[in-house]
Parts: sequence; C-alpha cells; structure tokens
Amino acid sequence: MGIVDTHCHLQDSAFDEDRDAVIERALTALDWLVVVGDDLESSRLALAMTRDRLYASVGVHPYHAEAVDGLAVDALRAFAGHAHVVALGEIGLDYHYGKVEPAIQQDALRAQLDLACELSLPVVIHNRDSHEDMAVVLDEYHERLPGGIMHCFSGDPAFVQQCIGWGFHISFAGNVTFPKAGVLRNAAKATPLDRLLVETDSPYLAPQPVRGKRCEPAFVRHTLDCVAELHGLPAETLAEQTTANAHRLFNIAGCGIP
Ligand SMILES: [Zn+2]
Repeated sequence: MGIVDTHCHLQDSAFDEDRDAVIERALTALDWLVVVGDDLESSRLALAMTRDRLYASVGVHPYHAEAVDGLAVDALRAFAGHAHVVALGEIGLDYHYGKVEPAIQQDALRAQLDLACELSLPVVIHNRDSHEDMAVVLDEYHERLPGGIMHCFSGDPAFVQQCIGWGFHISFAGNVTFPKAGVLRNAAKATPLDRLLVETDSPYLAPQPVRGKRCEPAFVRHTLDCVAELHGLPAETLAEQTTANAHRLFNIAGCGIP
C-alpha cells in the first residue's frame, strides 16, 4: 500500500538520537515523505536530508516572522532552486499565543507567498486561531498560487469549503484520531476525496493508538485508517487517493501515477 507523509520535522532535535533508524522505518513504510522547515536553519537541515523519496519544504513559520526580510527571502529562493524542494512552507498565521504582532506575521506571510508565486511552488500553510485574516490574505493570492495545503487542519466543515474555494488541499494530522476531535472528524468527512491529504507533523501529535509517544512518519498509517473509516473506504483505497493527490500537488515525477 503506497502511503506518503506530506509533513514531518525529521530535523527536529527529538530525532537526534536515532534519526537514521527513523528515516529507514519511514522509507520502508511509506512511498515518500516531505520534511518541512520552520525557519532558515531547519529549512537548510531539511534540504540537507533530502535523497531519493525524501523531499523538503522550506519556509519561515509565523513564530519566526520577525526574521523574514529581504535576505531571508533570498535564502529561501536559493534553497528552492534545489530539485528536491517541492513546496514553500510552513508559512502562515498563528494568533494562539499572541507572541508576534499580527501585522508582522501577515507581512512575512505575504513576502513568502510572493516568492511561491514567483517560483510557482505550492505552499504549506499553518493557520491557528487566525481564520479571518488568513481568508483575507488567501483571497488575494489564491489565483496566482499553483496550489497549497492547509496543514494540520484545525477548522470546521465551513472552513473546509473556503479552502476548497482557494484550490487548496486539506491535510489531517494525528489529532483527527483523538476521542474529543468530533469537529475535526466532521471536517475530514466533508473534505472531497480529491483534496484529502494525511500527515504526521512529527515529532508532534502522535495518533491513537500511539498517542503520547514521540510521533514519527511511519505512524501516518493510523491517521489514514481513521480518515478512511470516516469516508467508508478501505484504507488501501484512501492511501491510493491521498498519495495521488500529494503526487500531483507537489509535482513529483516518476511514481507511475497519471
Ligand atoms: Zn509542522
């Protein structure tokens, strides 16, 4: 069964002790995976890890929005010149902790969306407690973007529809499997099959039944099982569909998918 993890942070220090073993398990269990950066250093590390079936996404997370200046954008542009870089991200807005001014976050997001448009790369969007402002920005940009992912989706079915309107894919992480995540499961049910993706966001959010452990890419199987059940489909069918979706979105060649 061909499964992919569209979003993990294998460069995180949580993997310092046994990173090679985790990568080996990932590449055994999965067709391919995307290691995502959240600042310049973690993006550089993601790029350094790339190999056959291991791709990178580069970008600066809203927590580090103050670091996004012209030089940072130039660095991201240089990283993105590498053939194994398949997306810009994770970028976005996060008003949950109120650590960085919304205006600064929005400027950093726009600067990186401009770069994604220039380079014709899809974007990986982080959005937390910032739906309204995210809608304003994406209303502005979506027609020029070659696609995007609302990663670790945290909205309701109405927000799913809004994301679909922007031409986005919706990616569910391990939290969709948690007992209290009824709203998220409704959102997963409301997502059309051709827009669904699964991810781990590892080392965070390990799904049931491995909840509480350090998450790793091979665990994406449990999230896939949960979303397949919500859609009343065999896991194999949903694996094929989500892998084909990811393949098309990231424009990854050579996996035999039309
Ligand atoms: Zn992430």
